[in-house]
Amino acid sequence: MKALNENIQIVVGDITKYCGDAIVNAANTSLLGGGGVDGAIHRAAGPELLKECTALGGCRVGHSKITDAYNLPCKKVIHTVGPIWYGGSFHEREMLISCYKTSLQLAVDNHLASIAFPCISTGVYRFPKSEASQIALKTISDFLAQSCDQFLKITIVCFDKDSASYYS
Ligand code: ADP
Repeated sequence: MKALNENIQIVVGDITKYCGDAIVNAANTSLLGGGGVDGAIHRAAGPELLKECTALGGCRVGHSKITDAYNLPCKKVIHTVGPIWYGGSFHEREMLISCYKTSLQLAVDNHLASIAFPCISTGVYRFPKSEASQIALKTISDFLAQSCDQFLKITIVCFDKDSASYYS
């Protein structure tokens, strides 16, 4: 575990085991589940999560929606839709920034005190890990600096040590 400042920590592990208030799901626009972390979250939460997601009517890239967490140990799931990387000329960076900002804003709006993020878009969506990690850290740090919520604790859960190395 690596503490960047007192509000942000980096861990290696499975985000479905996170026991804080909320986890962020790297979803797709349908919000109906998929592979990677999305599939793992739906499997661990159980079928009720898909039922609630079905009623949400999807979500645009860079936006986020919140649901209950059902069988997961956390209380809420924030579903955010990361951009697919097409080389960097299609507003991918702005959309990734927006994923972090809108997820954090939902956490504040719902009075959540602790939230865990996966490395959004760095799996099948192919966003370069180096740039994605810098965007994640800067956006979270800027949000915390500007937010009046001094108590929000952020954990970035990397699935493997290689991903975690980009955050040091
Ligand atoms: P995306 O479509 O946004 O790229 P992926 O699920 O393919 O989403 O990958 C996003 C990141 O989540 C990758 O770094 C992947 O290694 C990681 N990941 C996959 N499963 C888990 C899990 N159970 N917990 C935490 N991170 C995970």
